Amino acid sequence: MSLRNVKGTRDLLPPETAIWQAVEDVVRRVFALYGYHEIRTPLLEDTELFVRGVGEGTDIVGKEMYTFEDRKGRSLTLRPENTAAVARAYLQHRLQDQPPPVKLFYVGPQFRYERPQRGRYRQFHQIGAELIGDEGPGSDAELLLMLVRFLRELEFESLTVRLNTVGDAASRSRFAAALREFLLPQRDALGEDSRRRLDSNPLRILDTKVAAERELLVGAPRLADFLGEDDRRHFSRLLELLDRWRVPYEVDDGLVRGLDYYTRTVFEIASQDLGAQDAILGGGRYDGLTRDLGGPEVPGIGFAIGQDRLVEVLPESFRQRCAGAPPVVVVPVGEHHQETCLALGERLRDAGVVALVELSGRSVKAALKAADRQQARFVVLLGDDEAAQSTVTVRDFARGEQAPVAQDRLAGWLRERLDRVEGDPSSTVAAGR
Ligand code: AMP
Repeated sequence: MSLRNVKGTRDLLPPETAIWQAVEDVVRRVFALYGYHEIRTPLLEDTELFVRGVGEGTDIVGKEMYTFEDRKGRSLTLRPENTAAVARAYLQHRLQDQPPPVKLFYVGPQFRYERPQRGRYRQFHQIGAELIGDEGPGSDAELLLMLVRFLRELEFESLTVRLNTVGDAASRSRFAAALREFLLPQRDALGEDSRRRLDSNPLRILDTKVAAERELLVGAPRLADFLGEDDRRHFSRLLELLDRWRVPYEVDDGLVRGLDYYTRTVFEIASQDLGAQDAILGGGRYDGLTRDLGGPEVPGIGFAIGQDRLVEVLPESFRQRCAGAPPVVVVPVGEHHQETCLALGERLRDAGVVALVELSGRSVKAALKAADRQQARFVVLLGDDEAAQSTVTVRDFARGEQAPVAQDRLAGWLRERLDRVEGDPSSTVAAGR
């Protein structure tokens, strides 16, 4: 049997990769406007980083990590998310010595052993940003403004931020204790996952999609009643700022998010186009994370966008903008013209024209057919007659018209028409004469 990729991983092929790149170009451009710089951390980390950072009671650490021993018996893990690693790098390289806040972004693969389905992979890709070193609601607002600007640049129109506050660590643990107490008498009615969470991470039960469990939660204590005064003030100031900037949001007090490190602000954006796996991105504040990793307490907030899911629901208008420039195909009519064609190709590239030179020696007819499949706009033909007069024959492939052009003028001639084609699809070789 021939070899295939590992279950839950994917090969990304052209032209889809052009769309991934275009999204990443927008990431780099928009995030730079807010002063974010790229960080690249290793795919491999000590397992302990995630146990301490993400939390032992989480699904990620409990059952989804790719963990293995290396040849020296060290426990290593393929990163399942990147915030813990960014916090580790921040502490390790003493980025707290830089003027705060430190603003970092990343783009790259993450690994979780989940059941693969549409929108859920074992190797998936995240685009994330972290703002470390400021605890005020202004930073929360700015991060969300950046996110909204990014999504608008991708031409999304109707996405709403779901938003909640989970309080600081103390409020959260008071609430967790009350929720556990409320659910304990009904323990046997809970499913296996929720029973496990009852001990390790009761807040996660609020996320349940099981209808019977949702009923059990009616009348449960509410997180909102356990918030401290500072938590409340932080959240209402954030909402005020979002209102002022007309960020579309709705408060959802059932939103808790699956990772242990979140404090105060948490948020998600979902798209109905995705079906069951509907979350495009999630994020929140993590004021205790650096301390959990053994460093000083430095507040932070960030988000991670699932790039696979984002690309899946990209507006068609943005996708269409990602199509690359159509190539110009240069075809020698007779093999002894190949070298001149190679030289012409180089001159076209010097002028920024995408050029494919026919080098296989196949017939002109076959070369034209291939050019059609490559969606070439112009084909440049060079045979004995053209060579004798230092010209070429340029065929407007879309219209089947052709014209002689001096070799010296070819690059400029094409450049001019290609630029016009991009702005005005009606322009043709004939119109350019
Ligand atoms: P999380 O790190 O769990 O907060 O996830 C942030 C985002 O990453 C989610 O909203 C998804 O878009 C994406 N994501 C998480 N897990 C997967 C997965 N297994 N496959 C594809 N995307 C994922």
